[in-house]
Amino acid sequence: MKNSLKIQTALILSALLTAGAVMPVSAATDAPVRDRIAVEKIAFQNPDFIRGMDISSVISLENAGVRFKNEAGQTEDIFKILADNGVNYIRVRIWNDPYDANGNGYGGGNNDLEKAKQIGRRAADNGMKLLVDFHYSDFWADPAKQKEPKAWADMSLTQKQEALYSYTVNSLTELKDAGAAIGMVQIGNEITSGVAGAFQNTDRAALLQTGAAAVRAFDKSVGIAMHFTNPENTGAMKWFADFLAQNNIDYDVFATSYYPCWHGSLTNLTEVLSYAADKYGKYTMVAETSYPYTLDDTDGHSNTISQWNNNSGDNMCWDFSVQGQADEVRAVMNAVNDVSGGKGLGMFYWEGAWITVGDVTGKSGSAWTRQYNANKMLWEQYGCGWASSYSAAYDPDDAGRYYGGSAVDNQAFFDATGQALASLHVFKNVLTGSVVSDALQGDVNLDGTVNIRDVTLMQRALAQYEMLSPEQCMAADTNGDGSVTVEDATALQRRIAEFPAD
Ligand code: CA
Repeated sequence: MKNSLKIQTALILSALLTAGAVMPVSAATDAPVRDRIAVEKIAFQNPDFIRGMDISSVISLENAGVRFKNEAGQTEDIFKILADNGVNYIRVRIWNDPYDANGNGYGGGNNDLEKAKQIGRRAADNGMKLLVDFHYSDFWADPAKQKEPKAWADMSLTQKQEALYSYTVNSLTELKDAGAAIGMVQIGNEITSGVAGAFQNTDRAALLQTGAAAVRAFDKSVGIAMHFTNPENTGAMKWFADFLAQNNIDYDVFATSYYPCWHGSLTNLTEVLSYAADKYGKYTMVAETSYPYTLDDTDGHSNTISQWNNNSGDNMCWDFSVQGQADEVRAVMNAVNDVSGGKGLGMFYWEGAWITVGDVTGKSGSAWTRQYNANKMLWEQYGCGWASSYSAAYDPDDAGRYYGGSAVDNQAFFDATGQALASLHVFKNVLTGSVVSDALQGDVNLDGTVNIRDVTLMQRALAQYEMLSPEQCMAADTNGDGSVTVEDATALQRRIAEFPAD
């Protein structure tokens, strides 16, 4: 029995290994993968469910010196790290002209079209589509602010429509020419109170119609999203879905932000999205969500969710931990997947990479002040904080007064050194489920220790003399890329040579 099994498995291995000595870790098993975080599998109604992320600030962070590292601790292109972890879509905000008269950036990533072109191309290079988030403003557009771009300030509605139309078509064309794979476009950002300085309903409807027409003229296969917020106001959300229909606004996706400290329950979220799905046949999605893996701050600029702020309430029901962050992402994806009729299209995490440009953790007194002042200079120079002092020229009452660093560094999927967190695995583990492994990484023979015998077993398996069980493959996949290759064996051998007592 044992011998025949061994021969049989050797044949299977032989077949697997002909394609470059790679053993898929979770082949031929429906069992959840073993991991450092536990994730319950989601049975997606939509096989192409969007597991997206907004990392709009990333270019400004890199310019300020931030480097991102994969789980093996190697510096790597963040777009590759995200794709390897199951992120399949990137969202990017675009401001028309986020600079003052002297060319100083307002901050928040200084996210102009040029930055979006870089982000779109790098996303496409790693197999990810792009959601283009036009704010139709020169800086943050949200429920409190919908200010038109400086260049549109004195325009009539008709002139503004013309400007919005050509800006949309021209920007999308430039993005496409730069190599971006544009899948979807948002006409405005969190347009709950208005869009591009238009607050009156007929004006607002006219601008939304114009934006949608521009996207259709650019490419009919690109999805159009309308993005609102405050889904806890169920009646208002339903009113927006009715408003879009009554004004014959041509769009595909009804989207909302969902931040659990403000935005009600997940049951309510599913209900308001299902309204647009059932009544108007629209796809739905969460365009923004996020959750802290810690309540600590690392850049000296206080965080939106901290030990003093927004850290309690009925819907803040996950731990502030790496596991808790993954739990929130899984729960929001599940709530969207539950939208009736299979109309839940996906979810985007907001600014999963907006980490500090210089770590103040553990510093106190003058050391803290020195580091904070160093960070402040980087925020001003590179626009890598939420706002710079230069934003006063456009938004004097808020950004121009309270400018500074990142308020969400504790909600990123990377720690203060740029190292990827295990919570990032949620983006792929929702497909298979995962359980927390209590086996040692590298303990291929599962005897409780990691030593040269494990390397020998791996080498024998790679040379087709032995077959590893799925559990052994998990332990052998030392770089966590989902397969066991000679690279894993080499890495383990090196590790044992450096730390023989491991
Ligand atoms: Ca901070």
